[in-house]
Amino acid sequence: MLKILNPANNALIKELTDDNAASIADKYAMARRAQKSWAVTPIKERIACLKRFRALVADRIEPLAKTLTSEMGKPITQARNELNGLLPRIDFFCDSVADSIMHEALMTEGDTHEWITHEPLGVIANISAWNYPYFVGGNVFVPALLTGNAVLYKPSEFATLTGLAIGALLHQAGIPQKVFQIVVGAGVAGAALLEQPVNGVFFTGSYATGKRIAEAVAGRMVKLQLELGGKDPAYVCDDVNIENAAASTADGAFYNAGQSCCAVERIYVHSKIYNDFVDAFMHAVENFVVGDPMDQKTYIGPLTRAAQLNVLEHQVADAKAKGARVLHGGKRIPGAGNYFAPTLLSNVNHTMEVMREESFGPIIGIQKVKDDDEALALMNDSNYGLTASVYTRDQSRAERILSQVNAGTAYWNCCDRVSARLPWSGIGHSGMGLTLSHYGIQTFCRPKAWHLRAA
Ligand code: NAD
Repeated sequence: MLKILNPANNALIKELTDDNAASIADKYAMARRAQKSWAVTPIKERIACLKRFRALVADRIEPLAKTLTSEMGKPITQARNELNGLLPRIDFFCDSVADSIMHEALMTEGDTHEWITHEPLGVIANISAWNYPYFVGGNVFVPALLTGNAVLYKPSEFATLTGLAIGALLHQAGIPQKVFQIVVGAGVAGAALLEQPVNGVFFTGSYATGKRIAEAVAGRMVKLQLELGGKDPAYVCDDVNIENAAASTADGAFYNAGQSCCAVERIYVHSKIYNDFVDAFMHAVENFVVGDPMDQKTYIGPLTRAAQLNVLEHQVADAKAKGARVLHGGKRIPGAGNYFAPTLLSNVNHTMEVMREESFGPIIGIQKVKDDDEALALMNDSNYGLTASVYTRDQSRAERILSQVNAGTAYWNCCDRVSARLPWSGIGHSGMGLTLSHYGIQTFCRPKAWHLRAA
């Protein structure tokens, strides 16, 4: 049985029967049969189903937000933000899919023609994370369904009720039951799903699990996309408005209790403004309201996974032992629930785990740098490469630095931002492949090359 716990108090919300190898094999077989007719369903009808899904979500923001908050601890205002943010993403996919997978007639020479058609992959496995289940799930299942694929969706064990709600609404919207199916369970269910002869594996989660998944499907020659973790840097130059830069990076670091793949995880500040920046940042952290995630005023709720508290404690102890100063927080908050105090560390450096390993919690280290070159070298001193941001009034300075940064996404004077129009991808341990943008629609298709000659 899968136990669904409320991370704000660790109370049991529900127990669910998880899928096993046999039930997953049945789901796969049903999906395989159903995908054929879904693929030939006119694209207008597929789009109409996803538009109905959008309308159903829009009508139910409040109950869906409450379910999300209760099972993963995201503050209710941020749960609403996620649901409201899903709607324009669905619009983007619905508006863009026809052009993205259009039949392309590229050449006609005498009797010879060359075309490209975009064919659905078939049945795909979507193994997902809990931190933004509507965003990271939707980035896969919306375009996958629009392009004619069947989806076996395994929500995270920490966001299963949300996954089941998504499934119910998709079916209510007209997506055939067998074309979108939920696989309930934790890693064991995910591993069993990978045993099935699916045509694509789309995974969002940690580097450690992503590596296991890549190893599990190696040799099978199926399409594999991995959207993994990050250790995203922000560099604050000496010419900024300090208050604004501190407020923006503090939000980037602590929103969703720091549990965002693109959270700001390390900050480098030019020595000329270091002390003033740390003071302004401290002010922002002191003003964060920590508490019950169902409370409208709460900005930082509990961590979703109790085990992550140990990781954060370890990172703080390691940093302290190597000379860091704890300016705020630094420990778990006693009582029920997985609460860790928002933590600010100064005097940090790259010998410390807090500057090298993904924290995925409400903790940040701020390091002093002497110039842009040192900042750039430190930003690139990471196995990860998801996003990077630079704060400066000078656009050419930002572009010079960002063009040399190893990251899938570059931000100037902003951070922790995702756009449906732009590709979302990582370098190194942050993964391979991409979602979003028109590339993130085409990725669910196989381009077929046609050479046609009238005899
Ligand atoms: P996780 O790796 O623990 O789990 C992800 C999913 O994999 C879950 O559904 C889990 O049940 C499943 N799983 C676990 N073991 C498996 C196995 N052996 N075979 C198949 N499936 C298995 O990650 P998480 O804690 O759910 O998510 C947090 C991580 O996700 C962070 O590292 C975060 O940065 C990353 N993330 C990345 C992005 C991105 O777009 N790059 C977005 C969101 C989250």
